[in-house]
Amino acid sequence: MAREFPLERYRNIGIMAHIDAGKTTTTERILFYTGAIHKMGEVHEGTTTTDWMVQERERGITITSAAISAFWERTGQRYRVNIIDTPGHVDFTIEVERSLRVLDGAIAVFDAVNGVEPQSETVWRQADRYKVPRICFINKMDRVGADFEMSVGTIKEKLGARPVRMQLPLGSEDKLKGVIDLVRMKALVFQDAEQGSRFDIVDIPEDYQEAAATARGELLEAAAEQDDALTEKFLNGDELTEEEVRGAIRKGCVGLKLFPVFCGSAFRHKGVQPLLDAVVDYLPSPLDIPPVHGKTPKGEDAIRETRDDAPFSALAFKIMNDPSFSSQTLTFLRVYSGKLEAGSAVWNSVKGKRERVSRLVQMRADKKDELTECYAGDICAVVGLKLASTGDTLCDDKQQVILERMEFPEPVIDIAIEPKSTADQDKIIQALQRLAMEDPSFRVRSNEETGQTLIAGMGELHLEIIVDRLLREFKVDANIGKPQVAYRETVTGTKEAEGKYIRQAGGKGQYGHINLRVSPNEPGKGFEFVNSITGGAVSKEFVDAAR
Ligand code: GDP
Repeated sequence: MAREFPLERYRNIGIMAHIDAGKTTTTERILFYTGAIHKMGEVHEGTTTTDWMVQERERGITITSAAISAFWERTGQRYRVNIIDTPGHVDFTIEVERSLRVLDGAIAVFDAVNGVEPQSETVWRQADRYKVPRICFINKMDRVGADFEMSVGTIKEKLGARPVRMQLPLGSEDKLKGVIDLVRMKALVFQDAEQGSRFDIVDIPEDYQEAAATARGELLEAAAEQDDALTEKFLNGDELTEEEVRGAIRKGCVGLKLFPVFCGSAFRHKGVQPLLDAVVDYLPSPLDIPPVHGKTPKGEDAIRETRDDAPFSALAFKIMNDPSFSSQTLTFLRVYSGKLEAGSAVWNSVKGKRERVSRLVQMRADKKDELTECYAGDICAVVGLKLASTGDTLCDDKQQVILERMEFPEPVIDIAIEPKSTADQDKIIQALQRLAMEDPSFRVRSNEETGQTLIAGMGELHLEIIVDRLLREFKVDANIGKPQVAYRETVTGTKEAEGKYIRQAGGKGQYGHINLRVSPNEPGKGFEFVNSITGGAVSKEFVDAAR
């Protein structure tokens, strides 16, 4: 079987935003208009498709990066749009990083009342670091206080980027009707019926004409700057064609020179279809981005071209248990070169082991497509891989490579965790190790001195969600608390003294809330007396009492 879509008709995109800017709603609308879902979910009803995890629905935030494939028709051709959902909460910037690593372009969603917000800045800088071309969507133009020009201004001032208005809002707040397309110089009026599926293309109303002409002037100037031939044409006062304008803006966007700006209201079903057109028109295909780099096992530089006949290489960017998939592990891959066939074996060059790929799937909003092959530039999920962790490279075992690793920040907070029932001790360790495979910013270790299991993550919410998942997915109920601080004292004493300490400690290394460890266990040679208490160093009293 050959590939269904030529590579230039792929768009691997993410939707990034400050929490509450409307990323989930926009994603949901995109999936609706692309025909992937038939009933639109609403965030407040807890029915959206990309928020798979129960906690996300309850908390109303998006944590996991689910990759979903959708299709969009533009100028008579079908495009495949793979949407990698990126979370908006600050505790999960790590999830944002990993998705930025594998996507080729992004839609940055802003709230028209607030413009650029602090966390949109964080995400924007991350995207700069990964050189991800972006288009901007000023959402919530229907809100009281919505201000398109102010929002565009904050992109310039706070992000130091060059926004280029491709549209103007047609009305605002409760009078928002649609958008003015500055390339076509037409107004798009969205019908309220059928969830905004239809819109009328009409002449720009009188009172918008001047503003539209000014904004178009700037757009044409920006377009002309991207191309010498166009600059000349522009300076001669010749009209640029729509195609020329789009081509030049595409060039500027892919080259990160400018950021095309669109607007609307995802919630009110206005402006999402033109945004999808813009994804096709301005964001890069896998062919427009540089080929991926890596190292061979000998440490030599290696480049893997985005071609089907190149050796296979892919990056595992997300591992999850899909509840709708009999809780099997899904390993999401971005295939960079070559092709992956179901039933073949792959080499995990980070783990140094071979593993069989039994099934390949691609996620759609409402179903999963079973694949026989997945090609360079695409995103798919392997069912049931046991070895791969997030960030691992999978490749052809005869042409081994380790692709550039994702950067994962070090965890910032530590908490102690224990199962409510001691019978669950082994189960909790297994479950935590499993979660650590999925999430490189989450670590598990045990403190030898206190005997406690410690988990470390990016913030309180991050660890709270881990505890939540333990209960929901692994059925382990856990207590968490501050890590114990060990108090250590070495006592050299007689055999009798040792015996006394040990008796005092209940003989089993336990004394009330204090742990005791005797070592080296050589009677008469002295021993180390280690105790620990929760959250503070008052254990000296115990040592003294034992004496
Ligand atoms: P996320 O946190 O970025 O994923 O944002 P959501 O999509 O969850 O949206 C946050 C809230 O804003 C929800 O209550 C949405 O219904 C609401 N919302 C999203 N888009 C719009 C919009 O265009 N206009 C208005 N008024 N509200 C919106």
